[in-house]
Amino acid sequence: MRLLMIGAPGAGKGTQAEQIATHFGLTHISSGDLFRQHVARKTAIGRVAKAYLQRGDLVPDAVVMDMLYKPVTKANQGAGYVLDGFPRTVEQAEAAYSVAKDLGVAVQAAVHLEVPTDDLVERLVARGQATGRTDDTEEVITHRLEVYAEKTTPLLNYYREREQLVTVNGARAIDEVTWSVIVQLQRLQRQLSR
Ligand code: ADP
Repeated sequence: MRLLMIGAPGAGKGTQAEQIATHFGLTHISSGDLFRQHVARKTAIGRVAKAYLQRGDLVPDAVVMDMLYKPVTKANQGAGYVLDGFPRTVEQAEAAYSVAKDLGVAVQAAVHLEVPTDDLVERLVARGQATGRTDDTEEVITHRLEVYAEKTTPLLNYYREREQLVTVNGARAIDEVTWSVIVQLQRLQRQLSR
């Protein structure tokens, strides 16, 4: 199975991706985690990405694609993946599709986690205090939410038009959200197999 998670910063993409990956035996691939690892290891990718992460801006598409190609290809040799944090723009979705369709490994469903903005800010500020994640400060959070609204929300229509979108209320307990996602994915699979 090949899935991706769409949600604003703080919506719980990472947490849900991890749970869903465990449930279906998939590989969880987080673009944000990979970028943070590259920054920490001071790799060539990390040196380019660092300033973008600090500002809460999107890293250029070519860098993202380059970073994800290997992990995604590898996950495809197994049971599949849950991608969290990619694509983040329609351009990224189209670029990924043109690479993946020839290989027969395009995404099958996109999971949208919906959470009210007030909750998002509260969660992110708390995470910043708990983890010291440098982009979880109020100023950068505000910017990341703007980037999400402007650049990422058009993706919802992109996947809705392809009948691949599953929307779930993410403002509930972690396990409740996970179960809704699983139930909805099963429903989508049944619809598509008809
Ligand atoms: P969040 O969704 O909470 O903002 P992430 O950990 O997913 O956090 O992403 C952190 C940062 O990593 C983003 O603000 C951005 O700078 C960079 N990033 C992650 N994924 C992408 C992507 N697909 N395209 C461009 N930049 C990305």
